[in-house]
Amino acid sequence: MTHSSRDPHSHSRAHGIRRIDLSSAQLASSESARDINRDIILELIRFRQPVARANLSRLSGLRPSTISAIVEQLIEEKWVSEGALIKGSRGRPSTMLSVNADMVTLALDLRPDRGILAVVDLSGRFLSRETVMTYSDPARTVLHIVERMRLLREQHPDKSFEGIGVSVPGRVHPVTQRLLLAPNLKWHDFDLKDALEKGTKLQVELDNDANVCLLSELWFGHLEGVRNVVLVAIAEGIGTSILTGGQLHSGFSGLAGEFGHISVDPSGQLCGCGQRGCWETVASSRAALSTFREIEPKSSVRNIYQLLRLAEEGNVGAIEAVSRQAKELGRGLRMITAALSPELILITGDITAAWERFGPIVQAELESSMLAGPAPRLQIAGDAELARLSGSAAMLMQRHASYHRSTHTTLKGRGLPKLVEKVANERSA
Ligand SMILES: [Zn+2]
Repeated sequence: MTHSSRDPHSHSRAHGIRRIDLSSAQLASSESARDINRDIILELIRFRQPVARANLSRLSGLRPSTISAIVEQLIEEKWVSEGALIKGSRGRPSTMLSVNADMVTLALDLRPDRGILAVVDLSGRFLSRETVMTYSDPARTVLHIVERMRLLREQHPDKSFEGIGVSVPGRVHPVTQRLLLAPNLKWHDFDLKDALEKGTKLQVELDNDANVCLLSELWFGHLEGVRNVVLVAIAEGIGTSILTGGQLHSGFSGLAGEFGHISVDPSGQLCGCGQRGCWETVASSRAALSTFREIEPKSSVRNIYQLLRLAEEGNVGAIEAVSRQAKELGRGLRMITAALSPELILITGDITAAWERFGPIVQAELESSMLAGPAPRLQIAGDAELARLSGSAAMLMQRHASYHRSTHTTLKGRGLPKLVEKVANERSA
């Protein structure tokens, strides 16, 4: 059985491949063919559910006995559950497989002014979503959040909570997961992971909000095999996430991609990081708001949503303020393009709510002076708040799966490298 890129099944299989791409370098190097095949089968089930074992074999090209062994392990680990018996075309009934709907994660999206807490299942469905208070004191915030998490778990007694994925508006050390830099959160050197783990007795995984959004696009979106992507998240600040050659790039210190804190105007406004004129002081939502306050000092507009609504209604000052932001955004994207040459730039966050009006300004600025060749494609990603939550859940599940893998060796050496070879061939094709 051959697979071309036009193969209707390649989409779902590719999701499995991409997910593996996102593993950290250490994980990738220790990952065996068995683990990769297991991940691919889990991804196939996620995208094809409900699906029979025979179909998994057909879709993956793996032997039925291999599929059975992998599925057995996935059921044992509770990732997958068996459902109804369906009669196939040849008359023999087969058991349909789905991802375990009872396996859920808590997702926490920490913002500078509030938190959003959700219960998300393996398919990315939200079982609940609520706002939680945050305080300038991180310890107090954690106490409050832990209590809300306890109540949420009580409300879903039939679900198995696997852990907590947290999206933070800052940078996280790739190994220790301590907050390295969170100027908009103003929590310095606080061990959020440890505090949440102690409070909930659940595995906690943290990552930067932009990385989490890109992970959501990879897991639940439609990147269709694009392997060089920069995601730019526009909110109070600007975060970026870099996918290069299919790998999330965090750099030596975990701080790669801090384009938001490259100073573009040394005499500009003071930034949360202590420098003047950082890109985010001119291209973030906060920048648009501050421009608008200069234009209309008496306005009662308090947040970016009100400002964008005013712009939609045709308010000249609001249009001017957001247009300036859009132009600065486009300029910064040229800087990113010069540095990384992505195929695709994904924009997420506040300004995308008015993209029809302001997107063309960003696009024109981006395309205005390419060094050579065409500019990267510019697209808006899905809803940022949902993406941060579903991406946090995906991150937890991804690392949780790695954790599971390290404790299971039952499938070692059962002739699984076949699909990996095929994956490798498709990659080089
Ligand atoms: Zn800065």
